[in-house]
Amino acid sequence: ITAPDLSVFEERESNVRSYCRDWPAVFDRAQGSHLYDERGRPYLDFFAGAGALNYGHNNPVLKRALLDYLERDGITHGLDMASAAKRSFLEAFEHYALRPRDLSYTVMFPGPTGTNAVEAALKLARKVTGRETIVSFTNAFHGMSLGALAVTGNAFKRAGAGVPLVHGAPMPFDRYLDGQVPDFLWFERLLEDKGSGLNKPAAVIVETVQGEGGINVARAQWLRQLAALCKRHGMLLIIDDIQMGCGRTGAFFSFEEAGVVPDIVTLSKSISGYGLPMSLTLFKPELDMWEVGEHNGTFRGNNPAFVTATAALATYWKDDQTQKQTQAHAEQVERSLQTICAERADASYRGRGLAWGIEFTNPEQASAVCARAFEHGLLLETSGALSEVVKLLPPLSISSGELEEGLSILARVVAET
Ligand code: PLP
Repeated sequence: ITAPDLSVFEERESNVRSYCRDWPAVFDRAQGSHLYDERGRPYLDFFAGAGALNYGHNNPVLKRALLDYLERDGITHGLDMASAAKRSFLEAFEHYALRPRDLSYTVMFPGPTGTNAVEAALKLARKVTGRETIVSFTNAFHGMSLGALAVTGNAFKRAGAGVPLVHGAPMPFDRYLDGQVPDFLWFERLLEDKGSGLNKPAAVIVETVQGEGGINVARAQWLRQLAALCKRHGMLLIIDDIQMGCGRTGAFFSFEEAGVVPDIVTLSKSISGYGLPMSLTLFKPELDMWEVGEHNGTFRGNNPAFVTATAALATYWKDDQTQKQTQAHAEQVERSLQTICAERADASYRGRGLAWGIEFTNPEQASAVCARAFEHGLLLETSGALSEVVKLLPPLSISSGELEEGLSILARVVAET
């Protein structure tokens, strides 16, 4: 078989492209848990659009809803227009996502991307508190704009800003404390000490599981302590659920298990369910201190995305089936990773729900595993500051047979690498 012709990408596209560039194929079609290249070769997708395709590719229910909407000439671009599609989404979000969890949030549509949702969250927190500093965590990833980069713990990506990034204060994320330090006591002393130089922060932004940072899982107890600390010091708690929300950890919101109620939540990636760009910034109603038009953007009214998002909520969150299935999948993955890593001293695993990572002491091993997996028809990407983690992010809609197939390819590939 001749190699695929990738020359136009190499010659015409910027070197900046990162994800998926080490998959030497030209992809053309996708259905469920599979992508297909131009020659029709199938690949099992354990990446799911970096978490944007929790319900799989071209999910038939969402596709039908989208096609029906387009066929009747539904509005495609709506700005802040009061559209029927947006109304259905707002009602469905209240009915399936918020009310069953006793949550009350005002919904803001800040733009198409996760970064837009984070920027809006940071601005709102500063506006509401009149403070500037935002506390964030080592290895965090919150987006690529200057505000979001200022709270992102990745030196390489921060350097890309080209200017100093200000008003962020990094703190160590849970797993680096190793359970040895009394959690947050030191942070509380810093906040209390006027000589510490740490201005009272406006907010703390945190992921419950760091996706881009290497699938680092915060303990529920750590999150609860963080929420209590925020309350004591008048700091708003922002949970960035862009990658781990919409069921990735099992529950619709990844913070449900810890029982914390953030002041602000960001959602994107799988909220539209069909890979269409959409993001939400949610905040407690009393925080809605925006003036009319103070923060906006052209592509914040993606009506086709509202249609698929509504269908996804009504199909997958009408009962606890999605959560139960993800839990069963999680157990299946954990059993496999236990066996895979038991054979190797240089590999360890961690995860929650359907977000798992295998960390290799030598980062080159992680890339090598992804490259070999590709040869066997399994799509995997790396994660972590040094790309030292092989990240497993299959669609939640994957069947247990497909999951088993991918895990056995992974086992073979790790053993051979
Ligand atoms: N926040 C988290 C937790 C993310 O994982 C990402 C993207 O990976 C972002 C924010 C940024 O989202 P986007 O790439 O859509 O701007």
